[in-house]
Order: sequence, then structure tokens, then C-alpha cells
Amino acid sequence: MNTTLIEDYVSLICPTCQRPVRVVRIYAPSQPGLKLVGIKHDDHIVVIKFDKYGVARDINAYKLIDPERVKAEHFAICKRCKRSVPLLFGRGLREYAIDHNDHFVIIFLMGKTFVLQVIDKIPPIRIAPRLNIVARIRKEIGLKNLAMILYYAITEPNRVVNIPATVEKDLKFLLREIFGRIPLRLRIGPLVELNWVEEADFFQRKILQVLGFSDKEALTVLKESVEMIINMTESFKRLLRKKGVNFVCDQLSYLKEKDPKLFALFQKLLGISCI
Ligand SMILES: [Zn+2]
Ligand SMILES: [Zn+2]
Repeated sequence: MNTTLIEDYVSLICPTCQRPVRVVRIYAPSQPGLKLVGIKHDDHIVVIKFDKYGVARDINAYKLIDPERVKAEHFAICKRCKRSVPLLFGRGLREYAIDHNDHFVIIFLMGKTFVLQVIDKIPPIRIAPRLNIVARIRKEIGLKNLAMILYYAITEPNRVVNIPATVEKDLKFLLREIFGRIPLRLRIGPLVELNWVEEADFFQRKILQVLGFSDKEALTVLKESVEMIINMTESFKRLLRKKGVNFVCDQLSYLKEKDPKLFALFQKLLGISCI
């Protein structure tokens, strides 16, 4: 199981075409510095930002422009290879990329000014797609049960949950990575369908978001989402003690319309009921 975490490639989903993007894992030389690399993806490029731990922190896509096929009146010079770069003002383009063989130039247009960014180009790796740890668990116990397990891990950490033996290793590994320990009292046995509650919707959304990611990225996103919920709950609890329930409900009110299910989760975690 541990071997899945030292996978030396990264898998993410392209924001433009939704296909998977797989590249070798790269480590930025320093924190908070991030290392950017680009991959060609048909008519666009995908740019991935790595941190010093080799975790892919961000992904963006930019439309690729063929400089031979555009007529430009303004040009800039590529810092890397000194070739001219067309500046396509007044065509509704705010950002685009140009392929310079071993690097890409990304052009950002702002009114009459521009910024150029040169990014190393790396080849995509072709490996057979495989299910990440989250997708494997989902396949065994279903999306809603996995979301409920994350939900109970926070709301009722002493709860007994039956899990099939086939998922034990993966699920324990995932919980340890996310919570630093194994919450819940996991018992091996036939899975008992956990009754769905709307408050667990946030976890369901996060699980769906990471299904196409590599293990390291998937676990990082889930861990940070859970930490965000726990930290926000802690600060709301402090506010609750100091300023009272009306004040906290007022603070939460922005969520009521924007994300009613997350709003319901915080009410549950704080043990309050806002009108
Ligand atoms: Zn793409
Ligand atoms: Zn260049």
C-alpha cells in the first residue's frame, strides 16, 4: 500500500478538456517557491505548479496560438530564445500560449500592457490509467458511504462503522493520512449502508473532485478540506463563547444561500440552529 504514495508521477484533470494529465512528479527548489511546468494538450497547454514536496498545488490551461497563423502588429521578445512573440491586442484574448519547442511562452494581456512567462515544457507520460485510493474505496463501498465515513470521523469519532475486509487497508491508510490517526471504531464485516445526511454533501463533492487525481494530490486535497472544516469550526466555537449564537449565525449567513449544505454542516458541528 505504501508504494502508492511514492508514485513518481502525477495525475490531474485538465481544466479545459477534462482528460487526465499525467507527468513525472517535480519538486520545487524552495518553499514558498513553486515550480511551473507545461504539457501540450492538443490546442491548449496545461500548466502545473509543484511545491517543494512534489505536490501539484495548482493546474491551469491556456489556449495555444500558432504564431504562423496570426497577423500581429505588436511583438515582444522571448527571454529564453530571443524569438519574437506576437502580442494579440484587441481580439478578446486575455491570455494565450505559444509553443517554443522546449518551452512555452504564456502571454497575459492587460489593456495595452503585457506580461510574458516562460515555462519549461515536459512530455506527458503514457501509463495505463489506474484507480487512485479514493476511487478504489468508492468502488468498494460507494460514494455516499465514503462521504458519510468522513462526516462521522468529524462529528462522531467514536461511532462503530462496519467495513468490508476488501477496503480495510485502503480506508485505514486514507483516514490516517487525512486525520493523522484512525478515527471511528472500524469493524470488519458486511457493509451496513450508512443513512445519508445532507450535511455530508461537502465531503461527497470533495471525493468527486479528486477521483482522477494521483494518490498524493487526492489525499492532500481531502486532508486540507477536512482541516479547513475543523479549523473553521474551532474559530466559530470561540466566537460562540465570546459573542453568542446570534453573532455566529450572522457570520454564517453568507453561506446560507451560497452553500446551504455547508451551512447545515457548520450548524451541526457547532450544535446550533440558525433561523
Ligand atoms: Zn486538456
Ligand atoms: Zn522562446
